[in-house]
Amino acid sequence: PGVVVGLDIGGSKTHGVLWRNGTLAAEAKAGSANVQNVTQDEAARSLSRLFRELVPEGQAGGIDRVVAGSGGVDTAADAERLRALIAPHAPGAGIDVVHDTRLILAAGGAQVGIAVIAGTGSVAWGVGEDGREARSGGWGYLLGDEGSGYWVAREAVRRTLHRNDLGMLPDALDEAVLALNAVGTPTELIGLFHSGAGRTYWAAQSRAVFDAARDGHPDAADIIDRAATDLTRLVLDVASVIGVQGPVVLGGGLAMHQPDLQDRLRARLAAEGITEVVFLDEDPVMGVRFLVTGAR
Ligand code: BGC
Repeated sequence: PGVVVGLDIGGSKTHGVLWRNGTLAAEAKAGSANVQNVTQDEAARSLSRLFRELVPEGQAGGIDRVVAGSGGVDTAADAERLRALIAPHAPGAGIDVVHDTRLILAAGGAQVGIAVIAGTGSVAWGVGEDGREARSGGWGYLLGDEGSGYWVAREAVRRTLHRNDLGMLPDALDEAVLALNAVGTPTELIGLFHSGAGRTYWAAQSRAVFDAARDGHPDAADIIDRAATDLTRLVLDVASVIGVQGPVVLGGGLAMHQPDLQDRLRARLAAEGITEVVFLDEDPVMGVRFLVTGAR
């Protein structure tokens, strides 16, 4: 169906793809344009940068349709704010703004099932056989986002602070946290955390926890275990409302790229009788093609 642009707007990045009559023609990445996370100006700048790369000079008018899946879109007003930022880049195009979970399920090629995101933020959402929808979590980092990259990193910082309060000397995970933040003492982390370093900054630090777990650090493994437990609870919440157990399709940086979290999630879900579990291996933005054409 002509020229279609798909956007996946996450907490840390925006990924854009352009299809011409179903064939992938261009791809670009920019910073987050999530209106919950970044200022309106920053979102506008990220989108300008993205469209400049995606669409050849002077051809913006040739776009027929834009489908944007974004985190932080909870109300019609949120969607409208984002739509208004996209509109100047695709004059005359139909623009749909949907919650980022929609892209996950679509990227998994499913019409019915449960989508989970464990990325910068976290959320579960699903749709049942009868079209009934439900969501659990995805309230943003101040209210929840359990099991997200931000949450994992914050748990590590909290652990370092707690150990310091008890007079314990820094261990390997503490050292990693201090080094990543270029600070010499745990107490400096408190000011840094409240200085507005931002959720993208902290979410990126979750890798210290995964690295430590891989090296056999028991507390790092425990944080990842709790993330898996929390994410499983989100799935069970959704399943209980929509009445289906799967497929469960997972996307987001943590869910797609951290095998330790994947293993623990698979085990937790299996213990609840949920075995149809898919970790996306292609970017969620590819789900736009399924949303538009019904074909993968
Ligand atoms: C946002 C949700 C989003 C989730 C996953 C959360 O921080 O509040 O809207 O779906 O992250 O991207």
